[in-house]
Amino acid sequence: IAKRWDSTGKSIFSEMTSLANLHNAVNLGQGFPDFYGPTKILDAISQEVLSCHNQYAPSHGEAPLRNEISYYVESTTGVIYDPDTEITVTSGASEALYCAINAFINPGDRVLVFEPAFDLYYQAIANAGGVAVPIRLHAPDTPIGIRGGGWTIDWSEFDAACAGGFSLAIFNSPHNPTGKVFTEEEIDRIASKILKKNAIILSDEVYENLVYSPARHVSLCSLPKIQHLVVRISSAAKTFGFTGLKTGWVCAPQYLTDGIRLVHQATVFCTSPFIQLGLAKAMSDKVWLQSYLKEQNELYLTKKNYLKSILERAGYSVSNSEGTFFLTANFENLAGDISDILYAKQLTEMHKIATIPISSFYKQPPKSLPWIRFAFCKKEETLKSVAELLLNS
Ligand code: PMP
Ligand code: GLN
Repeated sequence: IAKRWDSTGKSIFSEMTSLANLHNAVNLGQGFPDFYGPTKILDAISQEVLSCHNQYAPSHGEAPLRNEISYYVESTTGVIYDPDTEITVTSGASEALYCAINAFINPGDRVLVFEPAFDLYYQAIANAGGVAVPIRLHAPDTPIGIRGGGWTIDWSEFDAACAGGFSLAIFNSPHNPTGKVFTEEEIDRIASKILKKNAIILSDEVYENLVYSPARHVSLCSLPKIQHLVVRISSAAKTFGFTGLKTGWVCAPQYLTDGIRLVHQATVFCTSPFIQLGLAKAMSDKVWLQSYLKEQNELYLTKKNYLKSILERAGYSVSNSEGTFFLTANFENLAGDISDILYAKQLTEMHKIATIPISSFYKQPPKSLPWIRFAFCKKEETLKSVAELLLNS
């Protein structure tokens, strides 16, 4: 294996899913719903399987889907992206991230990453020869976290990381794994710094629709002063609860889109046409889309509150997740000073509940990190079985 992959191991998501299967545990680790997304989408895709051309799609995506994405992004952010020159359909947000990171990084370039961070960021940066520069979000149980009321940026650390220079920053709100939804004030402060450095910023907004009131999602692209530097990434996976669709999209000004399309062409070339066309057909029913998103939000809020109450009754200290389908929980009161990896393994083997240890979201995790992540995108009966396992065993 080439040297640039030395720092990459097997994905923690695959590892914990395998462990869950081995021990017949409830899987609240890898973030995927254990229930179906909308049948309207499945039906539309099924029809396209039978009737669409089913040969290569245009490399940058089927036009009907790019048009629907353009409409949708404009209706939620107010920003108009030209479907022909500024929108690219990719094989999931994963591929979008990989293409954007590889399009803009030269070997040795510094890339700012808010940490904990989705592991793919580090892997793609390493592949491109870049140097990830983490900016820590401090946990709610640390002095700065307590002061800030959640997973919090220390602005002096942020300024210090920026002072070393950078050509790219990766931003993710709503944030995996903490569930943090960055405030308008935080976003504005980050945007001002990016602007000063004239750096590109990848805004990973895959959880854009999973935000719980009173929190509000502010898309970086909606800040006029920085729009020309923003690469906005999203995906059908979370919005429609079908992680297997592996269909994502990138919206960016043309001069950035050109680079992303080059790398996309050199990786997968194109994404399957029937999924794109089926999605486009379902999304074109705007009344349905609006009511589906509202219902999905209400459903997830109920699941979040239920799991949070179970975890708190079981003795965890649970951080306030304002978005995503994740809750982070501190287990110090329950297990004392053991590593999060060991704790997550024991929880899977002995209590039959699989989670994700938070240290897997760090380039170099801090010494003590008593946090694990629970996914609550699960059926009511699955969450009830977790209550049974945690409270009655
Ligand atoms: N970004 C974040 C923050 C994620 O959690 C994920 C994982 N689902 C992705 C990107 C990748 O999304 P997709 O499944 O569409 O590739
Ligand atoms: N994003 C998903 C999560 O955080 C996992 C994606 C994957 O398995 N690669 O759980």
